[in-house]
Amino acid sequence: MFSRGLSFLTRAVFPQRCLQCNVVLSVLEQSLCQFCLCSAPQIDSIAAQRTNVLSSTLPTAKPTSFRSALYFTGPVEIYCYSLKYGGNYTLGVVLGKYFLSPLILKTLEGQRRPVVVTAMPVHLWRRFKRGYNQSEALARGALQGVREAGIDVHYRTLLKKTAHRKSQIHFDPFHRWSNTKGALQATKKRVPKDALIFIIDDTVTTGSSLMRAAEVVLQAHPKAEVHLLALAQEL
Ligand SMILES: [Zn+2]
Repeated sequence: MFSRGLSFLTRAVFPQRCLQCNVVLSVLEQSLCQFCLCSAPQIDSIAAQRTNVLSSTLPTAKPTSFRSALYFTGPVEIYCYSLKYGGNYTLGVVLGKYFLSPLILKTLEGQRRPVVVTAMPVHLWRRFKRGYNQSEALARGALQGVREAGIDVHYRTLLKKTAHRKSQIHFDPFHRWSNTKGALQATKKRVPKDALIFIIDDTVTTGSSLMRAAEVVLQAHPKAEVHLLALAQEL
């Protein structure tokens, strides 16, 4: 309550502006205004099936589903850049709540299984440099949105990076897949056996890292059902 009041005072003196359109934000808005959030290029469910990068040829254990919320284009590139390099943790929480929690809630329709949310890990030194893991910021926001809908959900760190891999930017899908082998490990965190586990990532290109994450999580929790969610999908 106190920090909320204090933030109100700070904002009266230094009003926050929307990252995208620079309009002054209301006290209920953070990082992005409602108009920019509403007009972000969302991937509808039909397009999501058509552009499902994970359904193709990569060899893996089967995750149950994969969805990304936004096209990686125009303003979304700015969001992702600011989230990754601009030290904007709050933006991650806002984006996770606004775009990822509805996808989780859709998957949970008719389900009564325990729900766990986790994030793709970043290497320790990257986390130190950045101050946070951008995928965890998204996951925390998604968690807030799901809880506000009255559903009991928990965050667990289920994955850790084991080695600093080469950047994947110049790799084709097969080499990306090989490059991720052994890069991720399951932590010893416990989750209910039959949990629905949502693994959150910021951007996906071929989806090979997320697929590897699904494989590692399923090895550690074979009775769980794994769902993969990304904020943005590169085309
Ligand atoms: Zn705006």
